[in-house]
Amino acid sequence: MLLDYRVRQRDFLLEISRAITAQLDLGEVLRRVLNASVVMLAGQVGMVALRDASGEYKVRATVGLDTAKIPALNTILRELISSVEEGYSREALDARMKRMLALLGRPLQQYVALPLVFAGEPLGLLIVFRSYQGAATPDDIQILQSFADQAAIAVHNAQLYERIDHERRRLAAIVQHSADGVMILDAGLRILIFNRALERMTGWRAQDAIGAPVDDVIVWKRRDGMDLADALASGWPATRDSDTPETLYVEGDLERRDGLTLAVGITYAPLLAANGQVANIIANVRDITHWRQAQEMQNVFISTISHELKTPVAIIKGYAGTLNRQDADWNPEVIRDGLQVIEDESDRLAGLIENLLTASKLQAQRDMELQLGDVRLDELAARSLERFAPQTSRHEFVLNFPEEFPIVQGDETRLRQVLDNLINNAVKYSPDGGRIEVGGRVEPGHVTVYVTDQGVGMTEAEQERVFERFYRADSTLSRKTQGTGLGLYLARAIVEAHGGSMSVTSRPGQGSTFSFTLPLTS
Ligand code: ADP
Repeated sequence: MLLDYRVRQRDFLLEISRAITAQLDLGEVLRRVLNASVVMLAGQVGMVALRDASGEYKVRATVGLDTAKIPALNTILRELISSVEEGYSREALDARMKRMLALLGRPLQQYVALPLVFAGEPLGLLIVFRSYQGAATPDDIQILQSFADQAAIAVHNAQLYERIDHERRRLAAIVQHSADGVMILDAGLRILIFNRALERMTGWRAQDAIGAPVDDVIVWKRRDGMDLADALASGWPATRDSDTPETLYVEGDLERRDGLTLAVGITYAPLLAANGQVANIIANVRDITHWRQAQEMQNVFISTISHELKTPVAIIKGYAGTLNRQDADWNPEVIRDGLQVIEDESDRLAGLIENLLTASKLQAQRDMELQLGDVRLDELAARSLERFAPQTSRHEFVLNFPEEFPIVQGDETRLRQVLDNLINNAVKYSPDGGRIEVGGRVEPGHVTVYVTDQGVGMTEAEQERVFERFYRADSTLSRKTQGTGLGLYLARAIVEAHGGSMSVTSRPGQGSTFSFTLPLTS
């Protein structure tokens, strides 16, 4: 009988050992440990409570008891643990255990509680209840304790694995949902991980890219500096300071799988193994198309703005120099004409500078200041057309506002700037002439004003960008015509500051219509 018992104990110890080595699923480990304990102690009911991060014990596995009782058990456990922590008292403990026995509602007589301790750290508590009073010899207690120690190792391993698995899934989610492209390479430069953003950027599906050599997927059409393989061949990463190995940045035009090109910057960060060798390379791929465009626009802008500023200055200087010639005796008419040109060009210069200032203020996120008052848009449009009409004989100007067009609240100077800009563009971008119509419509809650021309028009892609700061369509015409690419940016900002919106419809070669709305207050 005694031998039988010993054999059983040994078998159960073996079972627990197996749980340690074979099982990493915490729930399963707890279930096995608990089952073995209950059977070994010939109990009827058992439970395992684990200590959570806040130090509280919670029931995590049960045998032979109604799970609805778990919350009540948790409460008693909390009291039980705090009574142990306050100073062990047999009576206090017994009182709580009795309440637990009563709660379980069975003719249970005895309990065996084994603390689960790993490396001096309490992990939890294993309790088995029996329906009879059995005697426990010191030998039994020792075996039970080694049993509990083994179980603690199993629980500890499973908890560790659970934490690692959680961390791994958290990192995978971060990588997967990162807005930048992320891939992880092995030491042989094969792709191990390839996230969604990178699928979008390269046109490669993760399932095709994973396992492929990185050079098959990252194909450069044009590149600044070394690529990854070159860098590795020339000693990157430097192992001198292996705590923070340096990253490698490669920038250029990538050839996507569908043949299209994408401007990217890739930062490669090495992950070193304990021996200092590269174990993995983590690559962060950023789409730099917008940055490149902004850079290009900035460059074009600087050259256009210099040109735009130089032209009126050259004209003013030319006229002033001519009028100032000591050897000439100009008649009053020539002097007046010359001064008129100087005045006009000074106005143009002032206008240009004003536009630049407004644009830079808007860029600094400062709201546009408006001097609000009653504005008659139909009259404003008529006056604008009168100003443009003498400058061109190739265009026919048409004004098309309904009678009694409503008065709006707005900043007259700014709105004149909008209309002037749209009409000026209509003239500039219809070099062969044609009809330019400026009109208005009254709609519920707002008015719409439009300027239509029959000029060169724009592609869809150009229409999407015309309101960007410094943007000028890349056509021979816009290269030949004066402009800074600020006009429509400012026009839209003015309209939006009034609570309205601006849009364009156009077809290449067929003309364009720019419209804006302004809210009606009453
Ligand atoms: P700018 O005329 O000084 O270049 P804008 O901001 O007024 O700057 O216009 C931006 C670009 O939009 C122009 O360079 C031109 O390519 C295009 N654009 C504007 N208006 C028209 C139009 N009516 N027809 C065709 N293209 C236009």
